[in-house]
Amino acid sequence: MNQHTPFVPPRLSDPRLTARRYQMLIDGKSVDAETGETIRRESPAHAPTLVSEIPKGSHADAERAIMAARRAFDEGPWPKMTGSERGRILQRISDAIRKHREELATIEALEGGKAIAGVRGEVAFSAELWRYAAGHCVGLTGETHNSLGTNVLGLMLREPIGVVGVITPWNFPLLIASERLPWALGVGCTVVLKPSEFTSGSSIRLAELARDCGLPDGVLNVVTGYGDPVGQSFADHPATDFLSFTGSSRVGQIVGGLAASRIKRVGLELGGKGPNIVFADSDMEAAADTVASAVFGNAGQVCIAGSRLLVEASAKDELLERVVAISRKVRIGDPLDETVQVGSLIHRPHLEKVERYIGEGRAAGAEVITGGERLGNVGNYFAPTIFTNVTPDMSIAREEIFGPVLVTTSFETPEEAIRLANDTGYGLSAMVWSNDLQKAINTIRQVRAGRTWINGHGDGTPEMGIGGYKQSGIGRETGKYGFDEYSSFKNVYVQLGGKGRWVS
Ligand code: NAD
Repeated sequence: MNQHTPFVPPRLSDPRLTARRYQMLIDGKSVDAETGETIRRESPAHAPTLVSEIPKGSHADAERAIMAARRAFDEGPWPKMTGSERGRILQRISDAIRKHREELATIEALEGGKAIAGVRGEVAFSAELWRYAAGHCVGLTGETHNSLGTNVLGLMLREPIGVVGVITPWNFPLLIASERLPWALGVGCTVVLKPSEFTSGSSIRLAELARDCGLPDGVLNVVTGYGDPVGQSFADHPATDFLSFTGSSRVGQIVGGLAASRIKRVGLELGGKGPNIVFADSDMEAAADTVASAVFGNAGQVCIAGSRLLVEASAKDELLERVVAISRKVRIGDPLDETVQVGSLIHRPHLEKVERYIGEGRAAGAEVITGGERLGNVGNYFAPTIFTNVTPDMSIAREEIFGPVLVTTSFETPEEAIRLANDTGYGLSAMVWSNDLQKAINTIRQVRAGRTWINGHGDGTPEMGIGGYKQSGIGRETGKYGFDEYSSFKNVYVQLGGKGRWVS
């Protein structure tokens, strides 16, 4: 198994493996934590090597940032600017992201263990997200109601919701921030952002670039540190109007509960256990390639991963043979190597968690047909792993492993495929493969998931909304939906005269 996978050992002498010291950005100023404490991050892909040191923000730091965002919203120029003025600044930020692509990609490869070639693509897409939102700032409207009678004009004014707290996970830090910030900022909101303590560098750099592009002080603040206290302050603080949380369902429940107790609007984008349904009439070569990339890409640390393969029984052997062959050819290893497709898992406890699931699957009677073990002697690399003989009751079929682990179940009819696909508490992503488009569409229509593909996986575009069904979340980001998420709509009933008197 191990010997079949081309492994690129981490090059410990790479000159990019150096430590960088970051500061938070609060009210336009780069600052350390009030306590002076820091959190150190070692590369998960190399032997213990320090790559960044970030301030360990406290409740007091979060308070300062929230109040700066509050002032910037209540008294500052940002919400009052024209959409065109805001759009120009967002466009500059998009250009700055593109200009700093290499720097941002290197930061994420070092902190997150992600293959640098892939991160470059994510940085470019992040710039596209800012560009899309920038262009739409001029077109954000409400509604008028002009058929309420001659004496009435009805207006539905779009207004920014206010101060938005944004909490992001470690797997796609810049991309996930870029799916939210340009929409919130574009409407006129101000933001406090808490990136994951494991991968904060690119978010800090993003905020610094935004400041240099003319974003007024206090409009985008970054507080680094742990979820408790920093993230929790964002959820609990009376001065934040909206909480946007992306991360695990477990933490989503905690912060969602805190926000609910304050009657605060929330957007939650949580975990997934995406079904990849492959019918026997599919283009098997294309399906196999994408089945592999959908679960082994980014070492499976992808919320929309296609981690459950549901394959029509008659095609099972052929498809699995192809997917196994592909999985053994994936180039895994040093994320700084240009040819590498998949880097390291995020940290040792996560690697051990993946291993626990492998043990649980085996103990429950499922069979590992490839992978199932660590790769290399340093770092946290894990081989692409495929389970067969999986039944829906097993933990490997039900829980989000968040690693390069595919679980396979076969089905006989489309109805059975749909039942299996929906047999999960999650509802984030789903894929259907078939050359019969009518069958594919009929199937996807019945799968309860928010982000779906027919004959594909993973591609996205700023125009289309994203978000989860069921326990995968609440709310929609990007596209026109993202602007609505961060807007409040005010009803203005304009009386134009002619109303009879209450007391005459
Ligand atoms: P996580 O829930 O552990 O952490 C996410 C963020 O929340 C981090 O910034 C963390 O510091 C913070 N946090 C932790 N505890 C907190 C608390 N008590 N209060 C407030 N904030 C707290 O998730 P993770 O391990 O960083 O990311 C992996 C998870 O994220 C997976 O479940 C994955 O599916 C999910 N995810 C979802 C999407 C999506 O769009 N649906 C995208 C990416 C990742």
